Amino acid sequence: MKWIYLDHAATTPVDRGVVEEMLPYFTDYYGNSSSLHSLGEEAYNALEKARERVADILNSKSESIVFTGGGTEADNLAIKGIAYRNKEKRGSNGYNIITTSIEHPAVLETCRYLERQGFRVKYLPVDEYGLVKLNELEKSISKDTFLITIMFANNEIGTIEPIEEIGKIAEENNIVFHTDAVQAVGKVAIDVKKLNIDMLSISAHKIYGPKGVGALFVRDGIKLEPVIHGGGHERGLRSGTENVPGVVGLGKACELSKNRFQKDTQYMKDLRDKLIKGVLNGIEKSFLNGHPQQRLVNNAHFRFTAIEGESLLMGLDEKGIAASTGSACSSKKLQPSHVLLAIGLDPVEAHGSLRLTLGRENTEEEIDYVIEVLPEVVDRLRKISPLWKSG
Ligand code: PLP
Repeated sequence: MKWIYLDHAATTPVDRGVVEEMLPYFTDYYGNSSSLHSLGEEAYNALEKARERVADILNSKSESIVFTGGGTEADNLAIKGIAYRNKEKRGSNGYNIITTSIEHPAVLETCRYLERQGFRVKYLPVDEYGLVKLNELEKSISKDTFLITIMFANNEIGTIEPIEEIGKIAEENNIVFHTDAVQAVGKVAIDVKKLNIDMLSISAHKIYGPKGVGALFVRDGIKLEPVIHGGGHERGLRSGTENVPGVVGLGKACELSKNRFQKDTQYMKDLRDKLIKGVLNGIEKSFLNGHPQQRLVNNAHFRFTAIEGESLLMGLDEKGIAASTGSACSSKKLQPSHVLLAIGLDPVEAHGSLRLTLGRENTEEEIDYVIEVLPEVVDRLRKISPLWKSG
């Protein structure tokens, strides 16, 4: 069966051009980038070329890019790295770190871990669309605050946060600003200088690159304590022999994403809008979660009254459609999503949600098929739901 893959926020297929560029670094240019011989130099040069490509999509200097083992690790390095440099601020009256209640677990759990070590963390509320409340951000800042970490775009509902405004607030208050841009890269134009971003996390597997590789942008002058100690790779910030093929893949994925940006984002936006319109028109008591305009070009997140998300996923799976209820990390826990609760849904509503995330390889025919099939699946489930009353 040919799958209709609508779970690109969980992961993307690896682009063939990316695979081709990676392959020689497994078999031909397999040197350790720290070795002094020519094979080592070959690997080193490949890393530096990838560093330039990553820097290029962020408008940063290549020296500011630190390769990591993915988005989660980049978030951990940014947050723990700053916190461990500010240990003396533990136990203060004011908040040390300000984040939001809708972050990915890579950020939320890192913050909770630091709370257990005595740091004070503020989890900002969001409005019904998932937008962070800027007045609450300003109110939470004190002389004890050393980090603001707020995601660029939410991985479940697709809402894009007011990053430029947050960057300004951070700069005015002389606080380091980190953003998890794992879902935003390739879908939103990012310029770390213009947006006053000090640190930014990215992950290759969300942009048609390989899994288990990512990067953290760290602006000049930001001092981090390493989380992984060893041979001093990546300017001492991330020890461990670099994953050369993976990093080459990340670099190529960034290059492709930059070159195709206009075309891909417009294409996905058109498909997304068609999908949203088709679903909302075709299914009674269906709603869009997240911001109607300020949302990722590839995200459509719905809720359906009297529907249980997991049953819906299975129904779609039988029809060859791969979707998700929310984030891949929480979908097996069967707990209502913390993001949906934070935007004010009750647990029953939160359980009736469906996330469809598009990619550049999806076609209009696929979207037509989803618009045709989804109402049938919802209808079938509602017929057996004790909660369903039509009209
Ligand atoms: N941050 C966000 C917003 C994500 O969506 C994800 C992955 O789902 C991550 C971080 C983690 O990235 P990785 O899977 O590369 O560890």
